[in-house]
Amino acid sequence: MKIVRFNGGRIGVVKGENIVDVTDALGVDPAAWPPIAMVNVIADYERKLKNLDVGSLNATIPFASAKLETPVPWPNKVIAFPVNYHKHAVEMNSPDSYRANTQGFFLKPCSSLSGASDPIVLPDLPGREIHHECEIAIVIGKEGRMISEKDAYDHIFGYACLLDIVVRGSEERVMRKAYDTFCPVGPYITTKDEIPDPRAIGMKLWVNDELRQHANTRDLVVDIPGMIAMASSVMTLYPGDIIASGTPEGVGPIVAGDKVRIAIENVGEMTVDVVGNGGGYTPVFVDKRTTVKS
Ligand code: MN
Repeated sequence: MKIVRFNGGRIGVVKGENIVDVTDALGVDPAAWPPIAMVNVIADYERKLKNLDVGSLNATIPFASAKLETPVPWPNKVIAFPVNYHKHAVEMNSPDSYRANTQGFFLKPCSSLSGASDPIVLPDLPGREIHHECEIAIVIGKEGRMISEKDAYDHIFGYACLLDIVVRGSEERVMRKAYDTFCPVGPYITTKDEIPDPRAIGMKLWVNDELRQHANTRDLVVDIPGMIAMASSVMTLYPGDIIASGTPEGVGPIVAGDKVRIAIENVGEMTVDVVGNGGGYTPVFVDKRTTVKS
């Protein structure tokens, strides 16, 4: 099932070229704040949406006409893995000891989440490069702590495309990755039953028509069960939590006017516009032409 959030907090199921609007059938109030409806939809999936007779609902709209919003705008957390592909480590000149398996993970603020129809808004930081990172989002479906690798797939709800956007430099990583719209996720969540083999998911990223990144989850340093085991060794994972896998090699700058396209096999595809003039000046990011990169 492909579950989409659209047009001001509505929830839908993608059927071919259309979205079947299940907002009313699930009793969701799209205007409720905080916007936790999708967290509840995920937590109650087996009992509610999975068994809903979506075919009997005639509230459909064309997918192409919908404003696609980030699927889970208010998760408990967004966990992100750095340096999780060896070739990305090489391009960043990371020391051999600096990999996700020895460094662990970081967090991105939930306020950085945006959707497929939202532009990436670049802050005005003269002299600084802002890069794209092509990642897969793993969406948690079942609460758990100290989850074994063997049990990890039981805790996954589904997958989505994720762009981890970052101001390159040596300042605190979380701040460099925290601007609003620096975590586009979408275009919807594809439930795990539609992914034949999560150990071998191919993904690609283009900027305009240039293929920049091309990878497969089989090349991850810490694989998907390993990420869930590591994160849950520290924290309870809740339905709706998002794990960003880490990027493969091929990262590079984006500028206003670019279109970033990400496509993940069996998961989905989205194209996100890049716009400028986002403000956001802070003396922390004054042009330092830093030599240390991450
Ligand atoms: Mn990343």
